[in-house]
Amino acid sequence: MDIVLKKIKISELVAGYQDKAEEGVRGYGGRLNIRPAYQREFIYKEKQRDEVIHTVRKKYPLNTMYWVKAGDGFELMDGQQRTVSICQYVQGDFSVKIDGADMFFHNLTADKQKQILEYDLSVYVCEGTDSEKLDWFKIINIAGVKLTDQELRNAIYTGTWLADAKRWFSKNSPPAVQDGRDKLVNGAPNRQEVLETALDWFSGGEIEGYMSKHQHDKDAQELWQYWQAVFDWVKRVFPNQDSARAKLMKGLPWGVFYNEHKDDKLNAATLEQRIVTLIDDDEVDNKKGIYEYLLTGKEKTLSLRAFDEKTKVKIYGKQKGICPTCKKHYVIGEMEADHIVPWSKGGKTVSDNCQMLCKMDNRTKSGK
Ligand SMILES: [Zn+2]
Repeated sequence: MDIVLKKIKISELVAGYQDKAEEGVRGYGGRLNIRPAYQREFIYKEKQRDEVIHTVRKKYPLNTMYWVKAGDGFELMDGQQRTVSICQYVQGDFSVKIDGADMFFHNLTADKQKQILEYDLSVYVCEGTDSEKLDWFKIINIAGVKLTDQELRNAIYTGTWLADAKRWFSKNSPPAVQDGRDKLVNGAPNRQEVLETALDWFSGGEIEGYMSKHQHDKDAQELWQYWQAVFDWVKRVFPNQDSARAKLMKGLPWGVFYNEHKDDKLNAATLEQRIVTLIDDDEVDNKKGIYEYLLTGKEKTLSLRAFDEKTKVKIYGKQKGICPTCKKHYVIGEMEADHIVPWSKGGKTVSDNCQMLCKMDNRTKSGK
């Protein structure tokens, strides 16, 4: 990783400054992309903006900015607000109060203008491999704008694949969260969290590996088609997605379920009956776990009700500390409460159905 500290004069920075909303913001003779795709919109704060200009006028140092080499030019990684403030002021977009008077750049005397234009900005210019840049972005992110993990990845793996992926997965209300999918998915599309979810599921958690491999693909159709297939499958297997159900279904790892169970023989009507029963079952604490339980059969996803301390002490006393399986005596801390008739066979969490087993026998029983 190569990081070089450069001095850039304000006159160089503002040369060719252009702000064309959709097409982007450029400076430094057109070679600096001031708002690359991963940067969020410049948040206009008048007081901070004016502070930047006063700092420059007083020849105080501004915090070092970060540029990253990209193609023939640079992308601004950190310092968007300072950069835009300076460029807008010199361009004449706003005035600042100087000695009580509103002064635009063109109101300043020639020597004051010159002083601003010759002010040296400190810029770290960074060049390196993609993974080096990503590590570095993560570090400077701590001090600068807070980017999400996926915004950081997008900063590295820009290209045709990402541009197409964003059409489907980012901005406000993209296709990815339409057709009722918004009821099932968590995360803000415009912060790239839906894209992250899709990538996570599709790549099996290897998001960066996937993005680097496909960076220059002509489009992201593969990912988009996968996403649609996941939710088509969910709709087929769990068609009841009314608002009460959607509350249980929202944010579940549907892609992971799809990856592992898409070829299972599943009957929607049977599943629906079991869901109704499980929702009604007071023994089931974690209703959101119902879907995973139905697919995997793992009872732990349901957080089944456990015996309380009072019941445990009572049963321990009744058994006089003897484990009914191995007939040995234990102190209470060496024992665990067990359902005599398990939940799966209709057993409830009531003291009549409780026995205290030694830890060894409890864990051996039914392969806990
Ligand atoms: Zn025992």
